Amino acid sequence: MKNSKFDWNGFKKAISGVRFEQDKDFVASRSKDYFWYSPILSEVFENKTGDIVVIPSNQEEVIRVAEAVAKYKIPLTLRGGGTGNYGQCVPLEGGVIMVMTKLDSILQFNESSVKTEAGIRISRLDDACREKGLELLMYPSTRQTATIGGFLAGGSGGCGSLRNGMLRDPGNISYLKVVTIEPKAKIIELHGEEIQKVQHAYGTNGIVLEMELALSKSKDWIHCATLFDGYDNALKFAMAAQEKSLDCYLLTVVERRFSKFYHKLSDRFPNDKDAVFSMVAPEEFNEFEKFVVSMNGTISFAFKEEDLRPNGLQPAYEFGWNHTTLQALKMDKSWTYLQVAYPQPFDPNLVMKQMERYGEDIFWHHEMARMGGHVQIFALPLVKSRGREKMYELIDELESKDHCTIYDPHAYTIEDGGMKEIDNNQIEFKKLADPYGLMNPGKTRGWKDEMVKRD
Ligand code: FAD
Repeated sequence: MKNSKFDWNGFKKAISGVRFEQDKDFVASRSKDYFWYSPILSEVFENKTGDIVVIPSNQEEVIRVAEAVAKYKIPLTLRGGGTGNYGQCVPLEGGVIMVMTKLDSILQFNESSVKTEAGIRISRLDDACREKGLELLMYPSTRQTATIGGFLAGGSGGCGSLRNGMLRDPGNISYLKVVTIEPKAKIIELHGEEIQKVQHAYGTNGIVLEMELALSKSKDWIHCATLFDGYDNALKFAMAAQEKSLDCYLLTVVERRFSKFYHKLSDRFPNDKDAVFSMVAPEEFNEFEKFVVSMNGTISFAFKEEDLRPNGLQPAYEFGWNHTTLQALKMDKSWTYLQVAYPQPFDPNLVMKQMERYGEDIFWHHEMARMGGHVQIFALPLVKSRGREKMYELIDELESKDHCTIYDPHAYTIEDGGMKEIDNNQIEFKKLADPYGLMNPGKTRGWKDEMVKRD
């Protein structure tokens, strides 16, 4: 094993019965996520791997691993679906990678919430909710592969966020069961606002075993695309649909230059039209259609979910959020991207100015969302990759000239990415849940060597 400084024999004995894998290729494949969206992060993470992958099959085995890494002081990185974009589940200091996907039991449905284990794939959880006439308030566009625990610890919001806000907004998650990393592990239960101590902490301060999530009544959303002449018109339509409170789960605005990356859509997204991909409540679809016409748009396609695949289509959410970026990067690796929040009130003219200013260097894509109860519009533009210096000049320009806020997807600490500042509540909680500083080391600037508990 690469890291001979750790007592691997002792560790393996301590986790006896828990499945583990040491094959180099297997370990390397479980040491990566989607950091490759960023050439800047690729330089940091390219050759980083863990030493061993453990795949516990139940909570008791997870606890045994937690106790063993604490006893032998081995770094621990948790992995859900491995779809994070910032190297959140790439181990910077080697050690143990723990795959959480076998913790996949749904524990209890309540009238408008579900209690579940954290390793369950979001699609399986949401499908089970839908069988009860309920649905998740939101999910990332990686619904098919991501886990709910990975979404809690690494994500921020996504499809559904224009209806229900961001993941961290009050009430969306009401309970977490967390296990600490100590030779005698403890269980800590967090309720209500306390969950913020662990939310979006990149698995640095405790292992989430269980969570309770709010649900709403499920709808048979109509997945559709609408075409407009002009990106400003597409943006104005999406904004007006949201202001009018048309019941949508997704409103993704994508400019015409993306159409070449959406070749499967062919004439459904031609290169002389700008598109809005939506999920619309069936009972409001007639009104939606009339509204499209009144705003000079045309509906390109509209299907219920079960009719998408037979018509050669994927769900609308896979045209949105960071799937839009993925469609482009799959075809052309000379692009990377940014995450931009716009100043309030949102002004489409600012986007049109940006479009002119950056020309062929940026292709635009916007998402309608809500944050803290207010409408918030984000962009996830494709940006021509021209190295670190140019990227940070661009970020500086968007912030200083246009008063946008950038959630930097080329940074790998919690603070340098979305959160901007050290969250002392999360660091205080880390002192309790990970006193030896073993979890995902290097991912939070708030944790200092002098905080490490010495036995
Ligand atoms: P992983 O990548 O496996 O892990 C994420 C973090 O959570 C890691 O730090 C890991 O250590 C930690 N973690 C995992 N399980 C646990 C646990 N049980 N306890 C504590 N910590 C844990 N994100 C969005 O927010 N919205 C989007 O719409 C969105 N769209 C995306 C589209 C594409 C194409 C891609 C590649 C990514 C997208 N993402 C998006 C990022 C990512 O898919 C989501 O955040 C997703 O929810 C992560 O889940 P995961 O299971 O893959 O987590």
